[in-house]
Amino acid sequence: MEKKYFPKLGMSLPALGMGTWGIGGGFWSPDRSRDEEWIAILRRGIELGASLIDTAEMYGGGHSEELVGEAVKAFPREEVFIVTKVWPTHARYDDVLKSAEASMKRLGTHIDLYLIHWPPTDTPLCETMRALEAVVARGIARFIGVSNFSLELIEEARACLSREDVAAVENKFSLLDRGDEETVVPYTEREGMLYIAYSPLEEGELAKNRFLAQIGAKYRKTAAQVALNWLLRFPSVVPIPKAGSIWHLEENIGSAGWRLSDEDWRLISEQFRRLPA
Ligand code: NAP
Repeated sequence: MEKKYFPKLGMSLPALGMGTWGIGGGFWSPDRSRDEEWIAILRRGIELGASLIDTAEMYGGGHSEELVGEAVKAFPREEVFIVTKVWPTHARYDDVLKSAEASMKRLGTHIDLYLIHWPPTDTPLCETMRALEAVVARGIARFIGVSNFSLELIEEARACLSREDVAAVENKFSLLDRGDEETVVPYTEREGMLYIAYSPLEEGELAKNRFLAQIGAKYRKTAAQVALNWLLRFPSVVPIPKAGSIWHLEENIGSAGWRLSDEDWRLISEQFRRLPA
């Protein structure tokens, strides 16, 4: 797997990771009916090098974290990079610490990157950010970051911190949602931060795109692979597609390790810019 280096973290990470929304249940509700299958998919992804795994306390009410924990047990710990998130209703100082400890317990290991899932609405941002710092001080997580934050809010969050810095931002970024392309994405690149692109396939929509399939034919790649490869060109961006089958997983991993030509990359950029929002 191709890697990218992130100065703010002082390390390289896989250019492509795995999402887990829907793995182990939905919004705060566990589903244990496909556990074996999910563990097998996650393990295959790690074997193929997509070893940055994104989960959250909210996904399946914590069951997604349990499945991630089970999957990573089969590998040396340093080979995987686990990202998880605290839900904004737990954004008060003590609640963040409780959530982080509970996530660590479900994962059965420390957290590599701990994020506030959405900007808190009922808690001062600095209270949450200082709690994230405490999560690092207690050895529960190695790095902290934010999700669904605008550039202004990222800067506000950073200004709250004294011991740590925001190492990563996880926002929605795909060919059909390019709000961050000229703002947060270049900012993370300049600051040496990791930008985790969620819903990079626009929940599967881009895999059906005929224009991308046509371009991909030249490279023997599918529409999904072209959509993900378009994102890989941004130095700070790591897309985290979620795959519900080994087939989709392996296809997604085939989006790394090659590059669209400059001309095709620009053609795709223009084509999607012309689409109505
Ligand atoms: P996504 O990765 O863009 O799309 C997932 C959908 O695409 C699934 O329905 C999947 O179907 C399908 N798919 C995957 N690979 C495919 C392929 N090669 N060909 C055709 N279809 C394919 O959307 P997402 O799950 O919303 O986003 C990815 C991850 O980002 C999530 O899982 C989660 O970890 C994270 N996320 C974070 C936030 C946040 O607020 N921070 C919000 C949303 C998502 P199958 O299941 O059948 O493979």
